Amino acid sequence: MSLELFSLVAGRPLSQGDSLAVKSPYDGSLVGTVRQASRADTDAAIAAALAFRDTPTRFQRSDVLEKTRAALESRREEFARTIASEAGLALREGRYEVGRTLDVLRFAAMEALRDDGQIFSCDISAQGKARKIFTTREPLRCAVAITPFNHPLNQVAHKVGPAIAAGTPLILKPSEKTPLTALKFAALLLEAGLPGPMLSVLLGPTAEVAEPLVRHPDVELVAFTGSVAVGKRIAGTAGYKKLLLELGGNDPLIILDDADLELAVTLAAEGSYRNSGQRCTAVKRILVQQGIADEFTRRLVERTKEYVCGNPLDEATRVGTVIDEPSAVHLETVLQEAVAAGAKVLIGGRRKGAQLEPTVVADVPRDCRMVVCESFGPLAPIIRVRDLDDALELANSTAYGLSSGVVTSHLPSALKAVRTLRCGTVNINEVPGYRIESSPFGGIKDSGLGVKEGVIESIKAYSYVKTFSLPW
Ligand code: NAP
Repeated sequence: MSLELFSLVAGRPLSQGDSLAVKSPYDGSLVGTVRQASRADTDAAIAAALAFRDTPTRFQRSDVLEKTRAALESRREEFARTIASEAGLALREGRYEVGRTLDVLRFAAMEALRDDGQIFSCDISAQGKARKIFTTREPLRCAVAITPFNHPLNQVAHKVGPAIAAGTPLILKPSEKTPLTALKFAALLLEAGLPGPMLSVLLGPTAEVAEPLVRHPDVELVAFTGSVAVGKRIAGTAGYKKLLLELGGNDPLIILDDADLELAVTLAAEGSYRNSGQRCTAVKRILVQQGIADEFTRRLVERTKEYVCGNPLDEATRVGTVIDEPSAVHLETVLQEAVAAGAKVLIGGRRKGAQLEPTVVADVPRDCRMVVCESFGPLAPIIRVRDLDDALELANSTAYGLSSGVVTSHLPSALKAVRTLRCGTVNINEVPGYRIESSPFGGIKDSGLGVKEGVIESIKAYSYVKTFSLPW
């Protein structure tokens, strides 16, 4: 049975509007419909946010987040199935994502209670006097969040949770490819007691919704997660406001001769294939030192056989589809280009509709589109490197700078990598995507402006610090 959901203006479902059909990337069946917002609805959502004055107390904000967490916990399986149905991700990925979202809610509920205000005594210099300066954190009047399709729930939670913790009214524009999970999640928040004007969720044409939100002079923050192209466009049109941009990546996994080979194979496979390879921090380039390259490659091919590709809702499936058929066709094209340039497909490579098999590609030339740009799918391209310096230079050679992983048992090599890699995160003996939901996360170069997300950093972005002083 398909879902019928509605865009929300200030917490209220729209009573009219065009309908958006959401179809399964796996078999094209109708998963649900969403009533879309118009330009007038967008303006109404902004006006409602700006007019809102009754900021809930810290306890009330924390309570809403905690109640939402409990409600999501009791409906874990239902949410995992909605994610699998609309995004084509394997059920185990949906379940994993729900678990991460529970963490986001828990950490945001905790942070909502924490006052990070500071006190400065002013009598600490020759120019000083008997005063004290205090800092306090104030909510923004209106923030906008725009989210991608690849983590339909967790990306949304990483915007909404910190905004609520900060007391900031938020207008969310989820991906039109995965709106159902976002709207169901919004319903949980409202049922948990979130005041309606603190959350609007708008689906609709870019010119009617996303662009007016980005350009509006009274929107104080645009938090965007998505592609580099759209992120840069937003940076060009947003005007004078805070920007939180989390963009694409093509993260390297560097594997040195002294690596634990079994660990390296596990990290390469998990990093390349989890979430159908559609994580901004997925392993997009495997840079293997030549001494272990043959054995590593042989074992990765063997391991890849375990990543069964199929119906996202089957328990046996480990890799579902990518988001749609055009995306799978694009991946097939970059794969064919690499093969034409000398790369070899060792396993996988076949496409059916929106499904591309997990694919190991060896001898990938360093200038192929597959490894220079972001390939958002279950590809594991292997490039041989001479030594650590060669690996670091190659890792730094693209326009991206999101995250990275290094597999080594040699601490000085690990530390050199941490110092040298130009990116937001370096994980030693872990996948580039490793994080906890409250640790600072975000990239540099084309991957972002270096302003971090993660629950704690995001709360700072969704608020501003007011300084005041008193005679003492
Ligand atoms: P996308 O095409 O950039 O879309 C992201 C969002 O932007 C969607 O909600 C989309 O709406 C909206 N949008 C499209 N055009 C817009 C415009 N002109 N102005 C404002 N908003 C606009 O990205 P995607 O394909 O959904 O997601 C995949 C990308 O996200 C990958 O590049 C991935 O690396 C990146 N990503 C980055 C991170 C990170 O933290 N760094 C995390 C996850 C994903 P519609 O759906 O209506 O088009």
